[in-house]
Parts: sequence; structure tokens; C-alpha cells
Amino acid sequence: MKTQQILDQLSKKHPGEKEYLQAVQEVLESIEEVYNKHPEFEQARIIERLVEPDRIFTFRVTWIDDRGEVQTNLGYRVQFNSAIGPYKGGLRFHRAVNPSMLKFLGFEQTFKNALTTLPMGGAKGGSDFDPVGKSDAEIMRFCQAFMLELWRCIGPDQDIPAGDVGVGGREIGYLNGMYQKLAREYHTGVLTGKGMTWGGSILRPEATGFGALYFTQHLLHKAGKDIKGKNIAISGFGNVAWGAATKAVELGAKVVAISGPDGVCVIENGIDKEMIDYMLVMRASNRNRVEDMAVCFPEKAKFIAEKKAWSVKCDIALPCAFQNELALEDAKELKQNGCWCVCEVSNMGCQPDAIHFCLHNGMLFAPGKAVNAGGVATSGLEMTQNAEHLSWTAKEVDERLHHIMQSIHEQCVKFGTQADGTVDYVKGANIAGFMKVATAMLEQGII
Ligand code: GLU
Repeated sequence: MKTQQILDQLSKKHPGEKEYLQAVQEVLESIEEVYNKHPEFEQARIIERLVEPDRIFTFRVTWIDDRGEVQTNLGYRVQFNSAIGPYKGGLRFHRAVNPSMLKFLGFEQTFKNALTTLPMGGAKGGSDFDPVGKSDAEIMRFCQAFMLELWRCIGPDQDIPAGDVGVGGREIGYLNGMYQKLAREYHTGVLTGKGMTWGGSILRPEATGFGALYFTQHLLHKAGKDIKGKNIAISGFGNVAWGAATKAVELGAKVVAISGPDGVCVIENGIDKEMIDYMLVMRASNRNRVEDMAVCFPEKAKFIAEKKAWSVKCDIALPCAFQNELALEDAKELKQNGCWCVCEVSNMGCQPDAIHFCLHNGMLFAPGKAVNAGGVATSGLEMTQNAEHLSWTAKEVDERLHHIMQSIHEQCVKFGTQADGTVDYVKGANIAGFMKVATAMLEQGII
């Protein structure tokens, strides 16, 4: 494989698709050496096939806002790769959503899902609908209009969407209600992240954050360290950040910062249960402002406008918000402030030069596709429960999640251990995911 040649061809074919090309480049650079040891992959043109999605559905979504005005958005579903199982991945509602973003997310999802040990292919979808400032009734009408198109593309053995940025339990509820109405199918397994009374799995809301902390624990353990007593800075205050903060506190760490698009809240004595609960209120308000935390808890949290979580002194940084949210200058500032570990919880949360800086400056680093895989893994467990028409206990789900995160860590160590004994988690995760998908593609012929 000639990585540069493939990347050049791809950027000619898809000009301006920045995030997608960035995600492909990272994976190709990691796997090149291994790939070249397998002439059968080259013969079947695995890479050329793997970097292109199987198909993309694009549709218009028209809905009426609270003022009675007609609004039009674009909706998408990118079915990326089904070599190891039905398409699986979240839906993102955010004003910046475009095909490049969803292709990068679908590509990443394919490898992430392979790492979970469960039989799930990769997909992603969403819309440029902006939930900020929308009423609950507007969210419902938009979700219903979105499903009016999406329902023909999905199904419990075909493609199973879930949440992502801007899509949580409430949105999954509205989407599922409309799916059932349209399809007249009452299978509980067509979406995951469902409510507890209609087929949802215990711990799914917490799973991405919990899984990220389990992975971080394994990574620290391997490096001879313990999470207890460590200071953690978290970006975001959505579902993922909430789960991460909950588990971090439970494991004896101190969450000293959470941030939003408006700035950062510094929490000197560490976040507490009351504040963690308030994160959910902030998410549901659709205001997208972290300052609200300092307004609600003025003695506990200090708001600094326009600053990121990465400006706060910490041991461990957990980006939990959006792609490319941690830049080179942030990585340098973190290092200067004593941070020695960055675990990406958001998908592609760190820019490539920031990752490069961490890896070459003695910091521990792990990529999103390994760290945040607990979310989709627990979606996979939800699918299993739905198929069995059963509901497992919290203990059972948590044990399985724990086991899966341990296995993901082991795969990273297996494929990412360097000559000096340290682990390159980026390489490890990419090679492990790739080997599984590539082998499945090879065994199923040229299709
Ligand atoms: N959106 C999540 C992710 O990036 C979860 C997807 C799912 O549960 O299907 O992995």
C-alpha cells in the first residue's frame, strides 16, 4: 500500500472533506506496515474498498417551528461497512453536520465497533438541525420529520441507529415512536439508547463515560499508576461528560473542570453529586452554556469565559465534547500545567499535531475509538437483550462492559506495544480494528 498515493487520490475525489480525510490518514499511517505484510489484502484491494462508505442516504427534512414557520434541514445516513455485522452507529444533530463529518464518524465507527468484540458494522447519521434554543415541541416535530425519511433505511437486522451529539434519550424516544407508527413494526431493537420502560438497557446512558473511565484505569494500571486522587479536566457537559464525571468521582478522582462553548467552570474542590446531576439539567435546557453551573453553584464553581478545560491544572485530560477540540497549543498548555495523560472520549477529539505532541513528550495518550467504545458496546448489549426479550440487571451489564473495555485495552496492547515496551494506543487500536474488518471482508469475497 502506498499511503500517500491513496490519500492523494482520495482528496482529489472528495475535495474539502477535511475531517474524513484526517480520519482516513490516521488509520492508514497506523496500519501501513501490517497491511504490507498481507499481500492478500492488497490483491483484494481492501483499503480502496474500506475507505469508501457502502452507501449514503441524503434527504430533506421539513418541519414547522413554534412560530408556525416552515424550516428545512438536511438529513443523512452513512452506511459505512457491514463486513462484521449490521450497520450500527449514532445520529448527530448539530448545525455543522455535513457529509464529511458523518463519513469520518462512520469510518471511525467501523473500527470502534470491531474493537468491541461484538458483531456490529459501522454507520453514522444525523442532520444540520441545531437543537440549541429549540423547544421540546420543536425537537419532537423535527425528530418525527427526520424519521419520516430515515425509517426506510433502517431495521433491527439491517441498521440500528442510536444517539450522539445532540441526540439523547428524549430524541431517541420521539424517533422510535415515529418509526413504530410508520413501519407498523413493534420490534424493540431498531434503535438503541431507549428508555427503560420500552426496551432500553440499564446503564446505556452512563456507558460511554463509564467505559472511558474503565479503559483509563487499565491504561494507568499498565503504566504503574492509580486513578485515585488524580485531578481530571473534562470538556463538555452532555451525556458522555456526565457519565465520565460520575465514574471518575466514584473511583476516587477529582473532577476540577468542565467546559462548554462559552468557557470553563473551575471546580477547585472537585465536582460533587449535586453538580453532576445538574449537568443533565443543563443538557436538557438546550442552552449550551456551562456558565449556568457557576450561576447555580456560585461557591463551588468559578466560570472563566472563553477558556477551555485544557487551561486548568490537572493530571488527566478527558476531551468529551467534539472532534478536534484539543489543539497543539492546548496539548502544550496541558503539559506545562503538569498533565501527563490524555484519553480521548469524544470521537477524534484531538488534532493530529496535538496527538503527535503528547506521544513525543512522554504523555500517555489513547484514541477515542478505543476509549469511548463502551457506549456502542452497551448498545450492542441492548440489542442482545432486545433479541432475547429480556432485561439484564445493572450488575450484569456493568460486568460485561467492564470485560469489553478490558478486552479493548488488551487488543491495543497486543498490536501497539513498541520495541521499548511502551504502548502506542493509536496504532494498537487501529491495527486491531483493521485486522478484524479486513479479514471479514476478505473471507466474504469481492462484493
Ligand atoms: N454515538 C456513539 C458512538 O460514537 C454510540 C453509537 C451507538 O450506540 O450506536 O459510538
